[in-house]
Amino acid sequence: MYGGQIVEGGDSETVTQRPAHPYTQLLIESAPDPERSVIALDAPPEEVAAVSAGCQFAPRCPKVQSRCWTDAPPRTEVDSYGHWAACWLYVEAAA
Ligand code: SF4
Repeated sequence: MYGGQIVEGGDSETVTQRPAHPYTQLLIESAPDPERSVIALDAPPEEVAAVSAGCQFAPRCPKVQSRCWTDAPPRTEVDSYGHWAACWLYVEAAA
């Protein structure tokens, strides 16, 4: 969940072992490791509110595209096991 929206779904093992949404990927990568620097993933409410129409994760997403700022991504199936992500990367891949 990011910005009050569920951004990825599926069984827990699939989501944690093969995360699809960029936020989930960064969240799992940020698991405590003293050798890595900390990434700030949680946006302050004013930042989330500033993205009125597009993807709420756009201000922090390393894979952001122009349409991410204007159009909210739909939930898109990632694989055939009920794994989905709300991300434009998968909409384009499914087309
Ligand atoms: S829709 Fe765009 S900004 Fe949102 S997670 Fe996907 S690539 Fe990143």
